[in-house]
Amino acid sequence: MLRFFRANFLSVAALLIAATLRGQTNELKLTRFEFSELHMGTLFRIVLYAPEAGAATQASRAAFDRVAALDDAMSDYRSSSELMRLCRQAGGPPVKVRDDLFQVMAAAQDISRRSDGAFDVSVGPVVRLWRGARRSHRLPDPQRLAQATKRVGYQRIRLDSNAQTVQLLEPGMLLDLGGIAKGYASDAALAVLRQQGITRALVAGGGDIAVGDPPPGKEGWRIGIAPLESPSSPPRRFVLLHNNAISTSGESEQHVEIEGVRYSHIVDPHTGQALTGRRSATVIAPNCTTSDALATAVCVLGPKRGGVLIDSMPGTSVLIVIEEQGSPHSYESKFPPPAPPDPVR
Ligand code: ADP
Ligand code: MG
Repeated sequence: MLRFFRANFLSVAALLIAATLRGQTNELKLTRFEFSELHMGTLFRIVLYAPEAGAATQASRAAFDRVAALDDAMSDYRSSSELMRLCRQAGGPPVKVRDDLFQVMAAAQDISRRSDGAFDVSVGPVVRLWRGARRSHRLPDPQRLAQATKRVGYQRIRLDSNAQTVQLLEPGMLLDLGGIAKGYASDAALAVLRQQGITRALVAGGGDIAVGDPPPGKEGWRIGIAPLESPSSPPRRFVLLHNNAISTSGESEQHVEIEGVRYSHIVDPHTGQALTGRRSATVIAPNCTTSDALATAVCVLGPKRGGVLIDSMPGTSVLIVIEEQGSPHSYESKFPPPAPPDPVR
């Protein structure tokens, strides 16, 4: 009896050692693969670790296909998108929508409430006028801007989670998911990779980055934060992240300068005015849907109110850089300390 027990114990120990060794060799055999494609008007990048090229290519294909399907559903540029079909029913009865659109709308409404409407996906009518200004280099007509601003208001979006419907309570309302869809798509793509067995992966939809488990042998993914004054220069600050997300808003090339004033593509939903001057907000959050929406919200709220919002949400942190009197000033709340230099680089 004793001998039997001992033999059993030994074989369990042997199995454990074998499993550990197998785990280590599998880890060692993982190779880094990188893929990129254009979706949602930006470059989506996938970096992942996989045992071989076939698995990596197949998984990234499935992830990009998921992003493309979300773009089809959520684009406000395509009149055939599910989002635009919903907007054409503004002022009418509740409209049944698919899971993804409902999820994204529910997340958007949550951030709208928390940010007191600084983030608001019903900014569509105002954003359209500012897009025109970027093309024509002329400020929007004040009267038209005032009219458009009256049609903005997340309180007039009604969601019913049981029926999975969205109702836009007034005619002329127009949704724009530009401040949240890329984050949602990065989360969704990372989930697809995970379903395919690839857990060590990063998905970047432009400046909206979702990360899974760290690269083999590393503590996290090393993410660089571009300097405000020259976003295309190499980053000076890095953070190490895993199983969460980071988004930067505001420093984009999407701005217009009219009579010496720089107007951003982010608008204040309460006033209809585009943000002016240089500012960027980098937010870390448990997922990329949240970091994307929060980064836009914090840009509108500014350091003081933005900091209060971030402090109220567990797992989130922020770094805000604003140009004041010609030089960049930074404000942070709970933001991780800079990562030490990477010895591999
Ligand atoms: P980027 O698109 O550069 O990643 P954001 O995530 O901040 O930057 O999204 C900006 C886009 O969100 C704008 O182009 C517009 O479509 C939309 N938007 C602008 N202002 C707001 C706002 N206050 N709330 C929600 N969405 C907004
Ligand atoms: Mg955003």
